[in-house]
Amino acid sequence: MRLRHIKGSEEFVANSASTINNPEDYLGKWPHPLHIEIGMGKGRFLRTLARMNPDINYLGIEIYESVIQKAIERKEKDEAENGPLGNLHFLCMNAERLPVTFAEGEVDRIYLNFSDPWPKDRHAKRRLTSPVFMKLYDRVLKKDGEIEFKTDNVNLFNYSLESIPQSGWDVVYKTFDLHSEATPNVMTEYEEKFSEKGNKICKLVAKRKA
Ligand code: SAH
Repeated sequence: MRLRHIKGSEEFVANSASTINNPEDYLGKWPHPLHIEIGMGKGRFLRTLARMNPDINYLGIEIYESVIQKAIERKEKDEAENGPLGNLHFLCMNAERLPVTFAEGEVDRIYLNFSDPWPKDRHAKRRLTSPVFMKLYDRVLKKDGEIEFKTDNVNLFNYSLESIPQSGWDVVYKTFDLHSEATPNVMTEYEEKFSEKGNKICKLVAKRKA
């Protein structure tokens, strides 16, 4: 998410009760069930889910403090209007750190929404559906756990339809036009923006090969 740096966002994020500042202390001890979104952006997707499913713990992972600050502000506004969301927290880190943050099989579900496309071939390893990242998910996701991935970027989607099976996973559901299907769907900020522009939304669900 391209967002100008907000002055003081590091401090704002560190001081918020919604932030996990010491993730290493939770390794092997995260509350369950635990569903994470990697590259959460401003957080609408997880906020909606957290409101719908109070018994699930949601953790939004995001690299940039400025972006997490927005997510915290929106969560606080929602809480002021609709009551507490104690099952939604944020963690500022690079997804590369997943294996030092979660024990093996500790995560129950992973969401990737509108991940950065990294269109150049030489940057393919940075895509969140590349074999490099699929290997990290393989470590931290529980045995029968699923990954849900949405994007409007057909190139990234087609790449993922190859890279995911190559990494030892089955694509158990896929669509190139999610909004034309009856599947229940929770919108993200990017999803709203891109579908308003007329882009179709692609979605897949992946599970480890049996
Ligand atoms: N999921 C949101 C935002 C999509 S933009 C939505 O659908 O509206 C992608 C986000 O992923 C950006 O905010 C970017 O900062 C974050 N991101 C990209 N690479 C990441 C990584 N390796 N680890 C954590 N977050 C990452």
